[in-house]
Amino acid sequence: MPCPWYQDGYCHSPALGEPSSDPVINAVCLGSEAVYKKCPFYRERAEVRREEEGVRRRSGRYGRPLLLIHSLKKCPKSGCEFFVVEEDESGAYLAACNVLRRYLTRYEVPLCENHWKDCPYRRIGVTIESSE
Ligand code: SF4
Ligand code: SF4
Repeated sequence: MPCPWYQDGYCHSPALGEPSSDPVINAVCLGSEAVYKKCPFYRERAEVRREEEGVRRRSGRYGRPLLLIHSLKKCPKSGCEFFVVEEDESGAYLAACNVLRRYLTRYEVPLCENHWKDCPYRRIGVTIESSE
């Protein structure tokens, strides 16, 4: 069995930026498991899956939240239809604005909770939605 990253003369290892034939050495890539596992570009599939999962968890729907300024201990509530709440893997809450397409800071969240009716971004969001 060849290396699992080998396909049609190309190495598809995630250690490379993109598939390439440059590192392919038939004696290594088509060799035994003991041989191809010593290749510097070889990665275990389980390890790659764990890394990908970690990146997905660290990056939320609105980019990567900075827990120091975005995480909230209590679940926030707002009457604004563009206000979105997510629960972080640590159990903290994150609030985001669907008009601004980003996470809201701890300073901004109370404004969305208490003054959402006067929010200029909400007016923009309503205008965009009604023109669609
Ligand atoms: S042995 Fe190395 S170069 Fe060859 S396919 Fe596997 S990871 Fe790529
Ligand atoms: S910033 Fe304005 S539009 Fe966005 S969630 Fe807060 S109140 Fe709603």
